[in-house]
This record gives sequence, structure tokens and C-alpha cells, in this order.
Amino acid sequence: MPQDSHIRVRFAPSPTGYLHLGSARTGLYNYIFARQHGGTFILRIEDTDLSRSTDEAIVQIVESMKEMGLHWDEGPGVPGPHGPYRQTERHEIYRDYAGRLLEAGHLYPCFCTAEELEVERAAAQAAGGGWVYSGRCRGLSADEVRRRQAAGEPFTLRVRVPEGRTVFHDILRGEVGFDNDTLGDFIVVRSDGSATYNLAVVVDDVTMEITHVIRGDDHISNTPKQVVIYQALGAAVPEFLHMPLLFGTDRKKLSKRHGATKLEQLTAEGFLVEVVRNYLCFLSAEFDETMITWSLDDLVRHFDVTGLGTSPSIFDPEKLRWMNGRYLRAMTDEWLGSRLVEYLTRVGFYGDPAGVGESAARGAEALARAVEEAEAGRVPPVCPNEEQDALTRTLAPLVHEKLDLLADFVPMAGWFFRPLEFAPEALERLRGTAGAPETLAAAAAGLRGLEHWDIPDIETLVRELPQALTLKPKAVFAALRLGMSGQSVTPGLFESLWALGRDNAVARLEQAAGLLA
Ligand code: GLU
Repeated sequence: MPQDSHIRVRFAPSPTGYLHLGSARTGLYNYIFARQHGGTFILRIEDTDLSRSTDEAIVQIVESMKEMGLHWDEGPGVPGPHGPYRQTERHEIYRDYAGRLLEAGHLYPCFCTAEELEVERAAAQAAGGGWVYSGRCRGLSADEVRRRQAAGEPFTLRVRVPEGRTVFHDILRGEVGFDNDTLGDFIVVRSDGSATYNLAVVVDDVTMEITHVIRGDDHISNTPKQVVIYQALGAAVPEFLHMPLLFGTDRKKLSKRHGATKLEQLTAEGFLVEVVRNYLCFLSAEFDETMITWSLDDLVRHFDVTGLGTSPSIFDPEKLRWMNGRYLRAMTDEWLGSRLVEYLTRVGFYGDPAGVGESAARGAEALARAVEEAEAGRVPPVCPNEEQDALTRTLAPLVHEKLDLLADFVPMAGWFFRPLEFAPEALERLRGTAGAPETLAAAAAGLRGLEHWDIPDIETLVRELPQALTLKPKAVFAALRLGMSGQSVTPGLFESLWALGRDNAVARLEQAAGLLA
């Protein structure tokens, strides 16, 4: 890629909640583009919508960006020459620019009240057309403006949009043009003196010397208004790249209805952030399986942000799940052990294995809520004790082939961390298993006396039981599986007995036998 250190891009999320996948993707593409060109990546917080922006959301966005490895060169926590990087701290700058535009005649005060504008809108609607402001206050004399301002009448500032057409260049679409009479003289300063999005974003992009604006294509319709402001300021218009939005598999815009659509939720379910990151690139490009384990540096080296198509990108959670499983299986057991410890700590598993087991059974949202509770400090984070840590790492190779998500560990192996307990159906199943009491008793005795506590010897012992007890192997295996765990799905039987340790394995089988007596 050609290097151009003058390239400056920004990711400008509005902090109204967790980082939505679409926004995460925009942040990622900006980062990749900046790094490919040796340019600068800026994080700017667009928090001018005071009713919806929260400090909590800013913290979450910052954390998610860090988790994805998208470190910014200027922005919150990273002072730069063009700060502050939070819009609510930039009022003075907007006021200054609005003053200049007003003085040069590009803006005019508008005294129309909300009621008057509503009448205009209703009339346009009744006539079957779309509404743009009529320009009623455009021609007010300087005297009248002074008089009404002196009388304390509230006013907004509108852009005097010139006649003609506004054209800009979009990297994916080429030339995009709008007739200016479709824009109307739009408001850039509200009656309370605050700047609207269109003014703030242009002033920020001009003062931060942004060369490329990479954002969602829901902003295409704002772009001509912004270009009019650039032109009024006599500032260079940046290149635009409007990314197609994310859609669900039903081809509707990605939203809550589609399940987890926020990075936090996905990682709470045990998706790996590395996989989500890669998938957000691959869903708009051809990819082969060797790319599943790509690092962020690989994406920077090989992924072409400008090669996107313009049709919506389809987000398919099933495909993501498949990729996650592939990624997990490509890694070592040691790596998986560490990631499991990290993940299980995060969902609060070590403090309450049974509770997290219930959340996991209820589904992704319940798990996400558990993480949220922990992150908000409502439940203290519980790190594993030495034994739990070691057990998790011991179990990693036993579950490695079976996991698609880190969360799959909980239903499969959570029982190792709890005392033996049976759901009523599981106990019924054990009762209905031929020869269960004899099997449990014989296995407990055999395991207690086993000379070497290792997997091959446990296997030999268990495999001899059906013949010794004249039972079907299937029945013996089922009784032991249920008897040690209280459930039907577990990692491999011999490995599981071994991982429990002799005393624990024997005690569990005896306890289960006792329940049948
Ligand atoms: N704050 C806007 C948003 O979150 C982005 C604006 C822009 O990138 O120009 O959609």
C-alpha cells in the first residue's frame, strides 16, 4: 500500500450504548486504513446528543476498542494537537466557526417557531411532497434581525444553501450528487446556541485535518449538507467511503431482533474478539479457511478496505460460530486453557459455577447480563483459586475438540466445579439404566484400588466392567457418566474420571450409588 503519513482518519461513535457491531466494523476499517498508509487514527466521541449519551457508554466504547486492539493515535486518553476529542468539550470551537460563517453571510438567523415550521411541514405533506424549509427568514433585513434579537426572540442559525448541485467523491460509489434544492436551508446552530451534528462534524473534521471519512452509508444523505459547509468555510473536502450497513440473514437492518449485535454480548457468549474482528472484514470479502486465524497485523497487510462492494453485508451468527470453533481448534491446549480461565473469570463462573450454568442454559443474553453485572461492579470479580485454575487447564484438552464457543465449556464441564447434583430427569435416567447400582459400586471399588491413576489404566478397568457384570457396555458407560457428573453430556469418560482425581471420582460414584439404594 502506498504510504502517506498525511492520511488522517477518525472513528466517531456516538456514546449511546455498547459498541454495536456495525460501529465496531467502522472503527476497524478506519484503523486498518490508517495503519496501511502509515497515517493517523483518531477516536472522537460524538456526545452532543446529551439526552442519549452517557459516560458509561464512553467507557464501554473505549474498552471495546482496546479489546479489539484498535489503539488510536489521538483521542480520549491520548492527547494530541487537535483536541479535545469529545464534542461536548468543543462548544467554543463550534461557536467560533459559526460566527465566521455568519459574518461571511453563509448563515442567517431564523426566527420561525416550531409551530410555524410544523404548518409548513403539514402543508407539504398534504400536497404529497417532501418538506424542506421555505427560506422564509432568508431575506430578513439586518434591522429586523437586530430588532427581533434585541426583543429576545429565540432563533436558530441556518445555512444559506446556494443554488445548484453538490457533488462529492465516494471511494466505493464514485461521484455522488444531490440537487441543492432537496437540502433546504438546514439548521447548524440550535436556539440554545449548540451546534447540530452537521456543523460539529465538519468543524471537527476540518480542524482535525481529516483526509478520509470512513463511516456507515446511513450518513450519505448528510454528506451534501456537510460538503456545503466545507465549501462555505473554503476548506478542502475529504474523500468519503460510505460502508454498506450490516444486515441480518433476513436482509433486514441488523438490530436487537437478530440476537447479539454488540461486541460485549458476543464476547460474553464466548466468541473470540479475534474471530469477530476477522469476520467483520471477511463478510465483505472472499475468504478461505486459512484466513480464519489471521491477526490484526495480517488484516492490515492484506485486507483492502476500498475493495468493498456497496450491497449490504450479511451478518450470519451461525457462520461466526463456525469460524470461532475453527479458530479454537487451530490453537494449542495451553492457549485454550488460558482463554478459558480468562473467560470464565469474566462471566463470574468461579464464584458461582451453578449460577453461571443456569445463565448458560438460558442463553446468550443471560450470560451477557452476568458480564454486565460483573463489569458494573455489582458482583465482585472472582478469580479462580489455584485448584480451579489448574482444573480448567487440565480440562482444556478434554473439551478442545467439542467447543465452538468458550461458553460451551459451562454446560459440558461446569459440573467438575460443583458438588454432585442431579436434576430429577437425570436421576430418573440413572435409575432406568440397567445394572446402575452394581456398576457404580464396582467402578468405585476398582478405582479406589487402581495402582496407577492414569487414563490408560482407568480405561482398562472400565472396559472390563461390562463382561464382569454381564451388562452391555452402553449401560455401563451411561451409568458411570451420569454417576460422576449428574448429566448425560460430558467430556470423554476415562479422561473425566482421571481429571476428577481418585478421591473425588470414587466419592461421586458412591454418592450416586447411595441415591439409588
Ligand atoms: N457519530 C456518528 C455515528 O455514530 C458518526 C458520524 C460520522 O462518522 O460522521 O453514527
